[in-house]
Amino acid sequence: MQASSPDPMLKRAAARFLDRAVKILGADRVFAQDEDRAAYSDVMAFDPGQHAPSGAVAVETVEEIQAMLRIANECGAALWPISRGKNFGYGGTAPALRGAIVLDMSRMKRILEIDEKRGFCVVEPGVGFFDLFDRLEATGSKLWMSVPGNAWGSVAGNALERGAGPQPYGDHGAQICGVEVVLPDGSLLRTGAGAMAGSKTWHIARNAYGPGWDQMFCQSNFGIVTKLGLWLMPAPEATMTIHLSLPEAEDLGRGVDMLYPLRQRGLLDHDPAWVSYVGIASYVGPRAQWYRGGGLLPDDVGRRIRKELGIGWWNAELNFYGPEPVIAAKVAVVKAALQPHFPDPITHTIWRQGDPFAASKAGIPGTRDMAMIGWYGGRGGHIGFSPLLPADGAQADAQLARTRRRYAEAGIDYYGAFAVGGRTITNINEILYDRDNPAMAKAVPALMSSLIGDAAAAGYCEYRTHIDHMDRVAATFDYGDHAMRRLNGRLKDMLDPNGILAPGKQGIWPKRFRSA
Ligand code: ADP
Repeated sequence: MQASSPDPMLKRAAARFLDRAVKILGADRVFAQDEDRAAYSDVMAFDPGQHAPSGAVAVETVEEIQAMLRIANECGAALWPISRGKNFGYGGTAPALRGAIVLDMSRMKRILEIDEKRGFCVVEPGVGFFDLFDRLEATGSKLWMSVPGNAWGSVAGNALERGAGPQPYGDHGAQICGVEVVLPDGSLLRTGAGAMAGSKTWHIARNAYGPGWDQMFCQSNFGIVTKLGLWLMPAPEATMTIHLSLPEAEDLGRGVDMLYPLRQRGLLDHDPAWVSYVGIASYVGPRAQWYRGGGLLPDDVGRRIRKELGIGWWNAELNFYGPEPVIAAKVAVVKAALQPHFPDPITHTIWRQGDPFAASKAGIPGTRDMAMIGWYGGRGGHIGFSPLLPADGAQADAQLARTRRRYAEAGIDYYGAFAVGGRTITNINEILYDRDNPAMAKAVPALMSSLIGDAAAAGYCEYRTHIDHMDRVAATFDYGDHAMRRLNGRLKDMLDPNGILAPGKQGIWPKRFRSA
């Protein structure tokens, strides 16, 4: 659907928009030089020009967002809202549509509320995980947050994209309760109970009167979220941790089958992930630390890495949160269920309030995981392939076999994680690469495409994808001759008749680009 070069009409509209934006925001908040365009492109891409924006504007208030929407409507420009733009592996700051203008909300950094008693916060888009963490710490809060592996991003942007963390509140999209949104025509609204002026339950009542719209603004281009309510968990009295590892790739299926019933029955407090050893090694150092040859990592090198790091082919961490007698009982039941699968006695560690916080298993923001992009050396990058599967060992094994075969064909080391829920598995695969390697520049997009196709053929959809693949993934949701695409298109045209807001996001295109 998208032209490979920027649409000249869109370029002219962007130029008009940027001129007018200077008058409203001032020249120091409008970025339209080549280096600005480069900075707001996808810095992980082989060819960042593919999704280069025409420029960017930094807004600081809701009124400024409304003003930007007004002039975008008048000029016919396209805007791509970002909170902090750290959506790496899925596009970073870059717009799906080349030539759109990035609406950067990273300066909107107010933490508007932390309700200590009822356990929620209200944040503006630019509030990062580090900002919220610092505030909770500075105020001596008894609330804990959940953070994704790499926590440079924003609390709001990550939740809106349905990001995840390895904590009890780790399904971040599901913790959203009540948002404030600016629609493409500039009108302002509040969802849920917040639709009532003076509501006392905006961020605590999930099921208020009428349709629930919070999720309508997740992974969509129907509005710009300017305030977001998110539930936080009460700090537990203690945590307990069990580390598990399985020696062979073929152990995945039993790894899944031993965990999902425990999760479904409420004996596990979060979705534990089986992470393959290359993933863990990539946080430790570059591949060259163990192997300098080309091609796939040889099996004997893989064995050496696992031995050296003391890990299995698959590795998982189970964390338990709560009063010590309660979690001790859960740990005992879980150990009894799992012990037959492991030759050595399963052990656990305990953390209690007052012990060093770093060992608490609270959501503590960090950026260690980004070390993975150094795996191949050179200017590194990564892209995520993230399908959802049923929580079922046999299907996980089949998925692994399919994806490993594709990785091998592409000549790229396999790195996958299977986060086991009670009913589904979120299967996050990272494709690591060196952006200066021409063979990888060809192999990686082809690998992504075949992975998406294979998954769809097996009945598995993606939960999230990179801007390059949004159309492809949207096309896999084809029930009723693409009935969902038509519904999204109808909503888009109604709410955004000029097609100015994030065209192409999640494969949702407004009318003016659909005919292209
Ligand atoms: P992060 O802040 O975690 O780095 P991003 O700012 O990169 O996340 O946001 C990821 C994606 O989510 C963006 O590309 C955009 O499509 C969407 N998004 C982010 N913030 C908002 C928002 N406030 N309103 C609507 N969509 C948003």
